[in-house]
Amino acid sequence: MTLVLPTDFERLFVARTHSHPIEIAAADAPTGSRMGGARPELLGVVACPQCARPLAYWATLESDVLSMRGPEPEALSILFCPDFDCRYDAHYPIDPSPVVVVTHPSSPRRSSNDVDPAAFEGRSLVLGGLRADAQPRSERSKLGGRPGYIQGEEIGEEFDANGYEFLLQLDDMSRVPGYPAPFSHGTLYLFQDREAPSKLRAFYQSS
Ligand SMILES: [Zn+2]
Repeated sequence: MTLVLPTDFERLFVARTHSHPIEIAAADAPTGSRMGGARPELLGVVACPQCARPLAYWATLESDVLSMRGPEPEALSILFCPDFDCRYDAHYPIDPSPVVVVTHPSSPRRSSNDVDPAAFEGRSLVLGGLRADAQPRSERSKLGGRPGYIQGEEIGEEFDANGYEFLLQLDDMSRVPGYPAPFSHGTLYLFQDREAPSKLRAFYQSS
């Protein structure tokens, strides 16, 4: 009899017993996963689907994080409505949402902040080591495992039942001095369409 051990993929996304923390680095880089700073070259201006204001750029995840899940998408960027009241609607998995996840090929930062004059300091995001996704589940940033909800699980379960599965969560790094806490010191949860992996939706919770 051969003992077959689960792969990291199975631990992260099938059994969901494990996750990888996503940490913010002290330094920035023009490529790879990152938060803040100038948006990717390939990411143009996107209007809020609810109020038409230009969305603010928040973060990009690239294959250094996403390839653990599979080949698609190669990269994704997260944008949010700068208007607090409009953005508040993203506490629910509404569609369209004032928090937009755009998938795109790998793309370095723009060389200037011309599109994002109010951008906060950019930093790289790095994947920590595989760890058990123990209870209580962490609300901090992570890839895979099960979501660590701040306000209860009902909304996420509803999302799950509609053909989406949990990919990752990103807390808003409000512990980092100078960071803007767009999600009210909360956490954004990203879900991926099981049939169309480039289709992603997000909602956030805060305490
Ligand atoms: Zn809006």
